[in-house]
Amino acid sequence: MKLDSPIFQDADKAREHLEAQRWPHGPICPHCGNANETRITKMEGKAHRPGLYNCMECREQFTVTVGTVFERSKIPLNKWLLATFLMASSKKGMSAHQLHRMLGVTYKTAWFMAHRIREAMKEDVASSGPLGGEGKIIEADETYFGKRETPRVSPQRKGRPFIKKGKSGSGHKRTVIGLVERGGKARMFHINHATKATVRDVLVRNADRTSTLYTDSSRLYTTTGEEYAKHRTTNHAIGEYARREGDVVVHSNTIEGVFSVFKRGMIGVYQHCGEAHLHRYLAEFDFRYNRRAALKVSDTERHDQLLAMIEGKRLTYRRIGEAGNA
Ligand SMILES: [Zn+2]
Repeated sequence: MKLDSPIFQDADKAREHLEAQRWPHGPICPHCGNANETRITKMEGKAHRPGLYNCMECREQFTVTVGTVFERSKIPLNKWLLATFLMASSKKGMSAHQLHRMLGVTYKTAWFMAHRIREAMKEDVASSGPLGGEGKIIEADETYFGKRETPRVSPQRKGRPFIKKGKSGSGHKRTVIGLVERGGKARMFHINHATKATVRDVLVRNADRTSTLYTDSSRLYTTTGEEYAKHRTTNHAIGEYARREGDVVVHSNTIEGVFSVFKRGMIGVYQHCGEAHLHRYLAEFDFRYNRRAALKVSDTERHDQLLAMIEGKRLTYRRIGEAGNA
């Protein structure tokens, strides 16, 4: 797929491409689920907007964007497809400023489009299940970056702000915990405060307990690690980052690499990110990592996979606005 592809230039071509991705076996009514071709008619002629279908089962009308993040948007579909392609294929992300210039839409529109696309990139963790499994290795670690919007309150200090400078002043930074299956997928989560309990919560919901867990020697992982088939640690404090054990190497360099791409993107491309939106940026970096070129996923395939994920995640302008406007 090239940027001069007709699907990025022409709204009709874009719609046909999206229809082919979403409905490989013909249109499906989003209102009642009817997929019987003889009971769906295409509304032809100038009186109807292009791509309009009529369902003879429920008597409702629909287009391919109903029930998707593109729904009720006045932005031409070819611009949506260009935006999804750019965001799916740019390793460190694509800023709203750059989308605004490349798409010829206002900055505000570009910002909303980018957030809707990030919402589509979110993996449905409940249906895809936990990472890892028997014989699989999962690396887990936490990272701290950016400035917290609200100071962390310390219960020991009777509700006064937290002042202790931890790992490079982590008390004032945003906390992200990340998991990655060796050779597989990654998931990152924004948590308010890394404690044994919050870390355990993320781990047991996202990492199969029959896996082998690799972490640094942080005490956050000690007790939860006992719930896993094996738990191996490297002691960064004494300069140990990798250790050979038989034919495997214990390290957490894979998750460090995932964090590194994320941080470079957040610093170099996004710069400002409201804390309320951080979960969507994390979903964006996970989405690309989990479909990385090393897994033999092409830019076109990654884009088509994204187009298959736009359904059921309609994020209204109102809902984004309510969460702050950064
Ligand atoms: Zn219907």
